[in-house]
Amino acid sequence: MNRTLSIIKPDATKRNITGSINKIIEDNNLIIVAQKRIKLSRDKAEGFYAIHKDKPFFNDLIEYMTSGPVIVQVLQGENAVQQYRNIMGATNPDNAEEGTIRKEFALNIQENSVHGSDSDDNAKLEINYFFDESEIIN
Ligand code: ADP
Ligand code: MG
Repeated sequence: MNRTLSIIKPDATKRNITGSINKIIEDNNLIIVAQKRIKLSRDKAEGFYAIHKDKPFFNDLIEYMTSGPVIVQVLQGENAVQQYRNIMGATNPDNAEEGTIRKEFALNIQENSVHGSDSDDNAKLEINYFFDESEIIN
């Protein structure tokens, strides 16, 4: 069993499709062991995406991620990090496989509905960035 951090992004909360995304998560044997709806501050969003701070899309990304509520979640299951990346689909929905969250719901490469950690090490860092261990319930 391991864990990954998921964020349901503002394009999805605005369209009221968080339940549809959670259904795909649960149908694929990942358990939502923590979940909260928050509004990211600019500082919190910039810290989370610090690795992308030199990318041309960074400012737009921060504007977008702070434009509405997000749902931060901890998902648990076998191979959670890779399993969730598989379910999410490619960053650009044009390249995402049929049946993935991004293929079904993403609007474009930026407004792509979900975030998922890309390694076990980053998953631990990202989970700790949003959650206290006491908020994660097996
Ligand atoms: P992923 O979310 O698939 O791990 P990245 O870590 O590369 O993708 O990028 C983080 C987020 O930044 C993406 O999910 C997307 O919202 C945004 N993004 C990535 N690449 C671009 C781009 N070329 N143009 C606009 N936004 C982008
Ligand atoms: Mg990434």
